[in-house]
Amino acid sequence: MTDLILFWHRRDLRITDNIGLATAFEKSRKIAGVFCLDPNILNGADIAPARVKYMLGCLAELQENYAKIGSQLFILFDEPTQAIARLATALQAKFVYWNLDIEPYSQDRDKAVREALKEQGIAVETFWDQLLHFPGEICSNTGNPYTVYTPFWKNWIRQTKAEPVPGLEQAISLSKEEQERAKNAGVVALPTLKDLGLSWDNPLMLEPGESAARSQLEEFSDRTIYDYDEQRNFPAIPGTSLLSAALKFGVIGIRTVWNSTLNAAEQCRSDETRKGVQTWQQELAWREFYQQALYHFPELATGPYREAWKDFPWENNEELFQAWCEGQTGYPIVDAAMRQMNETGWMHNRCRMIVASFLTKDLIINWQWGEQYFMQKLYDGDLAANNGGWQWSASSGMDPKPLRIFNPATQTQKFDPEGDYIREWVPELRSLETETLISGKILPLERKSCGYPTPIVNHNEQQRRFKALYQQQKALTEM
Ligand SMILES: Cc1cc2nc3c(=O)[nH]c(=O)nc-3n(C[C@H](O)[C@H](O)[C@H](O)COP(=O)(O)OP(=O)(O)OC[C@H]3O[C@@H](n4cnc5c(N)ncnc54)[C@H](O)[C@@H]3O)c2cc1C
Repeated sequence: MTDLILFWHRRDLRITDNIGLATAFEKSRKIAGVFCLDPNILNGADIAPARVKYMLGCLAELQENYAKIGSQLFILFDEPTQAIARLATALQAKFVYWNLDIEPYSQDRDKAVREALKEQGIAVETFWDQLLHFPGEICSNTGNPYTVYTPFWKNWIRQTKAEPVPGLEQAISLSKEEQERAKNAGVVALPTLKDLGLSWDNPLMLEPGESAARSQLEEFSDRTIYDYDEQRNFPAIPGTSLLSAALKFGVIGIRTVWNSTLNAAEQCRSDETRKGVQTWQQELAWREFYQQALYHFPELATGPYREAWKDFPWENNEELFQAWCEGQTGYPIVDAAMRQMNETGWMHNRCRMIVASFLTKDLIINWQWGEQYFMQKLYDGDLAANNGGWQWSASSGMDPKPLRIFNPATQTQKFDPEGDYIREWVPELRSLETETLISGKILPLERKSCGYPTPIVNHNEQQRRFKALYQQQKALTEM
């Protein structure tokens, strides 16, 4: 009799270019998938309905893909520690395979699931799949993990990267009896968002699932990638890949993504286009940098990296925070960005940096408040990237620059020079002249007639106050 392998999907909702799954398939054609909807995550404070809706769409397609090869993806909705072992035992699986993750919660959970399986005499095999270079593979000369991006990138780009692995072919189907046993072990139908007690009525910006992600990658690497270096900072231009959610849920394999950059590089005929491709590769390396950082320094998830920020006297004014969340700060670029995220579940990277700087340096509010609000909204919300982005913006993280403060008006003039992005998301300002809109000097009367709020703080004053607080704090920690 052929041994059954149960493959546990987590951040790899695909059947192509999946290292753990391809290895399982090499060992046995009798394979079934499982995904566990984890109440610890779904009931947590960091949940975003848009992200869950995207994930459910990815799971629906993954179920179809399993059915196409004659197999099944089982859905569980329970505490994974017991639920995975119960299903594997009911199916008399010989092995459970999965791809590893870097997040502290996932590592603890995996340890508990491994123990529960061991008690049932079921063997576990695990693999690194979600990164081109797993944590620990890229180290400094002293053998330590990198804490600064540039040397990490220089080393990372020099290393050979693996090719995509083959997808699954026809599998050996489970018998009716095995399917019945699975049902009795807690398998449920894929729930809707409403079943999970969540709602998101706005359309998703992108179609979920493996085939949509592949088309998105093809479209990006056929065209947009070449202008990426020039266009990626302008939020009114669709100049980036929009692949962040696909990468977070692993509906596209990172090796496939990397290969597409190599193919694009071969087509380059100018320094500008070559720069476009390389700059995009650098973004993929940022993703890996933050993941390896969180793996080696799990304490990043709960606090600042730098000592000077540990007891920073944040003012944490609730009213100011509410105005920031709602896009009612009176700073057009900040409000446009927050409204884009509230409505679509996505925000352009340039704007993520602007609103994060504004929250921390202008409103003097703890970056962790912003970090959590982003997780509650973003459909690409990802602990490592989000935490890395927030700590970078707050200056509390792994960034050699001591203090970075963005001026909202200067950022607007540079990156939304025609005011198109602001007009799209702050419709009450549409009729203003571009010069006024981007100047940072909209008069009180003009604001009143548009029904747009007066600025909730004065940028220059707040910047001075923030710098003074920072110097004071720094002196204290250096004492
Ligand atoms: C405060 C803040 C919070 C952020 N939160 C998240 C988050 O929760 N999830 C997330 O995926 N990204 C986050 N980012 C990084 C970045 O903004 C998004 O990855 C990017 O905007 C997604 O759009 P894209 O797919 O079109 O990116 P592209 O510009 O096409 O980049 C390609 C891919 O590289 C990765 N990437 C790009 N920039 C970064 C970066 N700075 N750090 C890590 N990975 C990066 C992403 O996987 C992205 O899909 C955050 C940045 C900041 C400043």
